[in-house]
Amino acid sequence: MNAPPMACSACFSDSGLRADAERNGERSDSPCPRCGEASGSKLDRGEMETLAHKYFVWGSMQRSDFGMAPSIQFNTHQATSVDFPVWLVRDVKLFEEILGVGFFHYGPNLWMIGEVEPLKALQNATTRTGTIERVLTEYPTVTITSGQTFFRVRVNPSAPRDPSQYDSPPEPSLGTGRLDSIDCPILYASADLELCLHECRVSSEDDLYSATLISNRALTLLDLSAFLDEPGNVTEFESLDMAIHMLFLAGKHSYEITRDLSKAAFSRGLDGIIFPSYFTYLRRGNMPFQTVYGMSHRRIPQFRAYEQSRPVQNLAIFGRPIRDGVLSVKSIDKVILRRVSYDYHFGPA
Ligand SMILES: [Zn+2]
Repeated sequence: MNAPPMACSACFSDSGLRADAERNGERSDSPCPRCGEASGSKLDRGEMETLAHKYFVWGSMQRSDFGMAPSIQFNTHQATSVDFPVWLVRDVKLFEEILGVGFFHYGPNLWMIGEVEPLKALQNATTRTGTIERVLTEYPTVTITSGQTFFRVRVNPSAPRDPSQYDSPPEPSLGTGRLDSIDCPILYASADLELCLHECRVSSEDDLYSATLISNRALTLLDLSAFLDEPGNVTEFESLDMAIHMLFLAGKHSYEITRDLSKAAFSRGLDGIIFPSYFTYLRRGNMPFQTVYGMSHRRIPQFRAYEQSRPVQNLAIFGRPIRDGVLSVKSIDKVILRRVSYDYHFGPA
């Protein structure tokens, strides 16, 4: 806390906001200037604003088929026009008074909910191939040198010590993942074991095994987790970078596109793809699709450097790399889940 306290967690009546205020504020023995309570976490103006943003803006994010956008925003120019439930009315007043803001329904920039030309071209069967060609040309390739290690997790393998169990799945199981198909078997791996566990959606009854894989030769991979440098006159609406970003954050309805993309990279002779994880945001604890003045953080250099400094990446290696000697299994260990913890904050119901 850098400024004088304005309120405290005990000032809030909604349980979610009160709990978030507890975590966002700072303990002190002095009485709250607003409610007089000494035991609550005190919040200064900046912390009140952060709390309002987390709860109302991030907390009201709505997914669309591609992309997502908050349905509530606040600023100092508008009076509150959102019809909040009765248990929030008092707390909203508190924010209005301290921050001098109003809360309103946010009409998102349409690119935030998938109005992105290259993304639309990928969804359309007649224009998909051409756009995939663009992706293969414009995205960089990365070479992983021989001797690199990464993990592959299996849930309930029938023979846990058998290295072949950690190769790409057998034919009947192909075509269920984001990038694999009958024509293009894939071994999914990551350098981040926790990410592998997330991706496997494990439950406590499962027997989990982690194989440490080592590359026997250099692998050339298409890096779809890269930030694509686009000319300054390319808007979010025209951005291939935004299209690929949204594609890999979308659910199963997007797999048809990503599988075609994967087949095209395979037929070009690449060894695989590095792709951003569905769990990227969960792992980093960032709000997805953040904007400043309607501009995506992805397009602003200082935010970009920050995002790039913490890559969370998945690897998809084409074919049957263990059978073909491209990768070796260095060791296999059982994974015991000791504790799973969730980090969360609240939003309006
Ligand atoms: Zn208080």
